[in-house]
Amino acid sequence: MVDIPVKGGGAIRPGKLICLLRNYVEHAEEMKSLPPDEPLFFLKPSTSIVLDGSVITIPRGVGHIHHEVELAAVIGDECKNVRGEDALSHVMGYATMIDVTARDVQAKAKKEGLPWSIAKGYDTFAPISAIAPTSDVPDPHNLKIWLKVNGAVRQNSYTSLMIHRLDEVISYSSSIMTLERGDIIATGTPKGVGPLFHSDTVEACVEGVGAVTVKVADAA
Ligand code: MG
Repeated sequence: MVDIPVKGGGAIRPGKLICLLRNYVEHAEEMKSLPPDEPLFFLKPSTSIVLDGSVITIPRGVGHIHHEVELAAVIGDECKNVRGEDALSHVMGYATMIDVTARDVQAKAKKEGLPWSIAKGYDTFAPISAIAPTSDVPDPHNLKIWLKVNGAVRQNSYTSLMIHRLDEVISYSSSIMTLERGDIIATGTPKGVGPLFHSDTVEACVEGVGAVTVKVADAA
């Protein structure tokens, strides 16, 4: 497991990854799903995190893997049952994360009513940028978010289009599980998800937060 560098100095050991699903209307539509009434999330292991300049490894026999660019909030201190109006005070910074997904494995799990942990949990399936402190990000809900593959724009949207906002998501998730320093909340992806192949170069960015660039390679 790697520590995630913080801009301006230091690093944070990542904890659990709470990943929102169907949190942008047009992405829910492209997945032929309805947006949920309450925030819906799954957990991704911290061992899937890799840093800028790393490689996403496509495991053997998984079929297609997809990119999902997401704004990630990093929790700064332990908290539980947080009120919405206090929620953002528990965030120490923000990062750009790619929630890599083994889409064919996920589709099979969905069809059979099985959990998603395998589709989401492979090593290298969570490339992340350095963490920008909250002082650099006055409004996390007003940021341009994009992803390019080999220089071509695949995802291009705004965090203002999120359905469930971070304060609500932190409040809700902290009513279920204690949040700890280093936990990461990935706020879901806008439309435009698609496949990645061996030798692709992927650049993801939330403007004002940070960028992460990674290569893609088939498992040796
Ligand atoms: Mg996602």
